[in-house]
Order: sequence, then C-alpha cells, then structure tokens
Amino acid sequence: MKKSMWKVILTGALLYTAVVLPPASAYTTLGGKYASSTISYIPQGLTANYSLAMADGIAAWNNANVDASFTYTSNVSAANLVLRQDAYGANIGWNARTANKPVMTSGTYTKSDIDFNTSAMDGMTVTARKGTAAHELGHVFGLDHVTDGKQVMSIYGVRTTSVPGPDDIKGVNALY
Ligand SMILES: [Zn+2]
Repeated sequence: MKKSMWKVILTGALLYTAVVLPPASAYTTLGGKYASSTISYIPQGLTANYSLAMADGIAAWNNANVDASFTYTSNVSAANLVLRQDAYGANIGWNARTANKPVMTSGTYTKSDIDFNTSAMDGMTVTARKGTAAHELGHVFGLDHVTDGKQVMSIYGVRTTSVPGPDDIKGVNALY
C-alpha cells in the first residue's frame, strides 16, 4: 500500500517536471522544406553591402556544418533561391522577407525569394545585415522564429548574432 502510494506521487512529480521545464531544444519549423539538402542560389542586382551580407550569411550556415547547404548557380531559371534588394520604405515593418514557394507553411519548396529592404537595412551595421541574411536563409531551409535572442532565428528585429546557434542547427538537422 505504501509502495504504490509512492509510485503515484513519483509519477505525478515526473509529469509535473516534464510540463514545467523548457524543452532541451527549441526550434520551430514553418511546415515545409526542400526535397534536396543542397539549395542553389543566385544574387540578382545586389550592391556591395548586400552581396557581402548574403555571402557572409551563406558562409555562416555552410560553416555550421548543418545537414543542408547553399550552393551558387549562374542559371537564374534553375536556381532555387533568388536574392534581391529594393527600397520598400523605412516604415513598412520588415527589414527583409522570405517567400518560399509553392506554399510557405507546408509541402516541398522548389523556389524561394529573399528581399532585402534597403530603406531599413542601409543604416545597419555589417554584423546586423549579415545576421539578417542568415535569418532569412534559415527561413529558406524551413525554420520559423524562436524567442531566444542567441539564435539567428530569433524573432527580434535587431540581430545580435549572425552565427547559427545550437537550436538553429538542431532545427536544420531535424529537417534534412
Ligand atoms: Zn523571420
């Protein structure tokens, strides 16, 4: 009788712990992903600052040794990912955006566009622009936002890191 009571108490304690403690890894995904782990990209009309941010962001992911990577192509019609820039306005509410196609939240992506908003990004530091590029590239893999500011997929607009963190890496490796 006494033994089984302890069992009940112990089980209750374990359940409570499981609910209250945060999970060991904390990434979120959009719901879709590329079929291949190699995603080809082409920059279109990027000026020096944005070309550098793109190159640094891609290097940050490729150097993180995740199970997927970005590779350059000169063939725009074959490219999975096109990176562009335009002055969309300072008050539009986004610094950069990613569109994965055909559907952002499910299925298999075949095309993505990243748009850098120069109105919002021209005044950024080199690191913040690189971090913004790395963040958008994470969306191309299929990652969604997290609240941890140490991950590049942080939802916060001011980028404090441009290097994929442990949860960013776990997220990509779970997808590919
Ligand atoms: Zn985002």
